[in-house]
Amino acid sequence: MDHRLLQQVTFWTVLFSIDRELAATACQAGCSCGGRLHRADFPRKPRGGPPDLPREYCYRFSFCCNREGCRKRVTPPSIRFLGRKVYLHAVIILVAAMRQGATPRRVGFLAELFEIDRRTIVRWQVFWQEQFPETAFWKVARGFLLPLVDAASLPLELLRRFLHGHDSDPTSGWKGLLGFLSPITTTEGLKG
Ligand SMILES: [Zn+2]
Repeated sequence: MDHRLLQQVTFWTVLFSIDRELAATACQAGCSCGGRLHRADFPRKPRGGPPDLPREYCYRFSFCCNREGCRKRVTPPSIRFLGRKVYLHAVIILVAAMRQGATPRRVGFLAELFEIDRRTIVRWQVFWQEQFPETAFWKVARGFLLPLVDAASLPLELLRRFLHGHDSDPTSGWKGLLGFLSPITTTEGLKG
């Protein structure tokens, strides 16, 4: 569980290309009304990544239906952004997980490095331990992880499970975890 990976542009290049695929799939599916989707991305100022994160990586892909009278917005799942949270999803997982371990000094270090205040970290823990376990997603998805993951161990145990065996290439473990969690990155996916 090394934070340095999250500070590397190459890591975000991999995640960006997956987000682009998720967006392309959503675009091809079109709007539920039968209309076509046009790009209407959200500009974001993501925090917690490398300082030189390329500008094009800072957009959350999103679409709008082109039909008059519908104009519905469709925001595909993402492996970079968690809803409207400003910090990158991987940072939110890592820091919340670190806080569960017996490493207060390390958390302090990461909070400083990623410029996160204490209250924000507390909110993330509430998210993982109270809001996330109540999502419809988790109620189904937890069944795919055996042995069962206890809600009290979230998100540390998720990180452990997905990174296990990927010591030489943690990027692929992160890809697995962020992909697994991608359904909860939309407003719809966070519903209980
Ligand atoms: Zn439509």
